[in-house]
Amino acid sequence: MYFISTRGGEKVTGAQAIVQGLAKNGGLYVPESFPQVSREEIEAMAEMSYPERAAFVLGKYLGDELGEDYLKASCEKAYSTFTGNDPVPLVKIDGESGLYVMELFHGPTCAFKDMALTVLPYLLKKSCEVTGVTDEILILAATSGDTGKAALEGFRDVPGTKVAVFYPDEGVAKMQRLQMCIQDGNNVCVSAVKGNFDDCQRAVKRLFASEEFNATLAKKGVRLSSANSINFGRLAPQIAYYFSAYVDLLTSGQIEMGDTIDFVVPTGNFGDILAGWYAKQMGLPVRKLVCASNRNKVLADFFAKGVYDVKRNFFRTMSPSMDILVSSNLERLLFEISGRNAELTAQRMQELAEKKEYSITAAEKEVLDKEFYGGFASEDGTVEAMYEIFEEYGYAMDTHTGVALAVYMEYKEAREKIDEKDKTPVIVLSTANPYKFPQDVLYALSGNDVKDSFKGIKRLNLLTAMKPPKSLLDLRYRPLRFKTVVANDLKKMSELILRFADGEIVPVPDKE
Ligand SMILES: *Cc1c(COP(=O)(O)O)cnc(C)c1O
Repeated sequence: MYFISTRGGEKVTGAQAIVQGLAKNGGLYVPESFPQVSREEIEAMAEMSYPERAAFVLGKYLGDELGEDYLKASCEKAYSTFTGNDPVPLVKIDGESGLYVMELFHGPTCAFKDMALTVLPYLLKKSCEVTGVTDEILILAATSGDTGKAALEGFRDVPGTKVAVFYPDEGVAKMQRLQMCIQDGNNVCVSAVKGNFDDCQRAVKRLFASEEFNATLAKKGVRLSSANSINFGRLAPQIAYYFSAYVDLLTSGQIEMGDTIDFVVPTGNFGDILAGWYAKQMGLPVRKLVCASNRNKVLADFFAKGVYDVKRNFFRTMSPSMDILVSSNLERLLFEISGRNAELTAQRMQELAEKKEYSITAAEKEVLDKEFYGGFASEDGTVEAMYEIFEEYGYAMDTHTGVALAVYMEYKEAREKIDEKDKTPVIVLSTANPYKFPQDVLYALSGNDVKDSFKGIKRLNLLTAMKPPKSLLDLRYRPLRFKTVVANDLKKMSELILRFADGEIVPVPDKE
């Protein structure tokens, strides 16, 4: 299957798209057409394990190039690192109103990024093989907190790869920072960058686009690739869990084949929700995709007005992985709703870079209105929603999922105004383990403010009786290996990467 750039001019294979990450003209790779999954195939998924379902969906895009058997073996290995019997449990919160939570956080780093980043190293390895790329691959990632750790863990000590992660020094939660800065492995490098996530992501995108920088690396036999959701290899494994959740509702008799359902997605870079939209294009019976933003509500305003406007203050919230103003993956959706008009998409991205805003046409907005519902939650609204669900159902969720729950409540009212008896099942995507944000979650559930994250874990454990993940408890005793903070400056960042590529960055050893 071929992939094309949202900004036109390129046509590559799936393997090339994965190796390259970003198109040469700055665009994002999208499939030339959406492969279809028939109702019979959806029904057949009922008999499959989660790794088999994931391999099946991946196979639709990459099977001919990477091989169905290889994909299956890769998904088996990737999801064997998850805890529990089911890598993606679907929890029924309220049968009466049809509310479910899909828990995507049972992977090694306790956030949903593991769903894709445990698989990506396998996809990349094979993609290099089939495209004949023998360079060392340097994974370069900007992170709002969770991608960085998941990329480090996914690529740690994978032969032929190195991973460099930049995180905003004013952006990530304490547990997220600790998780990254204690990272072990001999091919990893972590650094804070001055500024917020948007600054960080912009700088990293410019490094990807810099011919000079890429040429310098090429002389060393090193090639950049991306672990951010701009890489199709990151997006593809995320499509699978939308199918899997639907199949779970089918097999438990909650819906019948062909019934439509809604999904609510806590959104930052628009990767997760875009994967849901891709699932719909492939034939999954989805009615609405609800896009939930926190106080940084650029997307909610975009869905309301059809204007994407980043001229506004940036807020730090309790849901740092969603503290984003420029959501990269929206470009893929824009491309689709414009009727795949690459010229127009490129023009809008240029407007965004220069004027900090662009708008869409009334016809395009109508398409969005049909498929999406955009909402946002304030910090108070998030806390309130988390508390309400805990009080009524005894279910504790993290702050990002809390944002989604708050928007779900508003959405539920909106749809009941249209049809009081609307009982369409709603699946809320839960993107992080509550113990990743222990102080904020404890505060939301009990009103208790503690100064220390590990004390927060202890109290939260007493309150909820949920078991804290060992990997988070252990953070307390691990020495930091990475303490660098660099200026948000392309020169400084590229120098750091080049030194890392040369093997000159030697982190503090973590094992005595
Ligand atoms: C990354 C992340 C999100 C946002 O996902 P996008 O794909 O960037 O929209 C939400 N919640 C958590 C916990 C995350 O790590």
